Amino acid sequence: MDVINCKRCGNIFNYFVGEKICPTCKNKLNEQFDTVKDYIYNNPKASIQEVSRECDVSMAQITKWVREERLEFTEDSLVGIECERCGVSIRTGRYCKSCKTNLTSELSTLYKSKEKSKGSNVNKKSLRDHRMRFLE
Ligand SMILES: [Zn+2]
Ligand SMILES: [Zn+2]
Repeated sequence: MDVINCKRCGNIFNYFVGEKICPTCKNKLNEQFDTVKDYIYNNPKASIQEVSRECDVSMAQITKWVREERLEFTEDSLVGIECERCGVSIRTGRYCKSCKTNLTSELSTLYKSKEKSKGSNVNKKSLRDHRMRFLE
């Protein structure tokens, strides 16, 4: 157990796990979360700006909740947040479905090609391809 300063209000508190914020701030955040959740529930087409203004919660905090998949825009919502990779509108999380799939397969290809390229002449080849040429 550590005694640390709260990231939000600076008060000293006993820290166990999770976010480095004190119980008071955590309660406040949870209350804000409920407010935001209710607001989105009642106003499914509200933009983040509107939610932020009406609930008095920063847009950064709302986005954070959506990225953490604690908040989700409804199915028929006209707004959402952007996929961090391709910018397409998504309802929750960090990436859209296709980016998620691509990322997973890219990761496994990366792993595979790493295995394969052991001792190969990939570098030599790309050097040759990019060799400069003088033009008359
Ligand atoms: Zn605090
Ligand atoms: Zn995407």
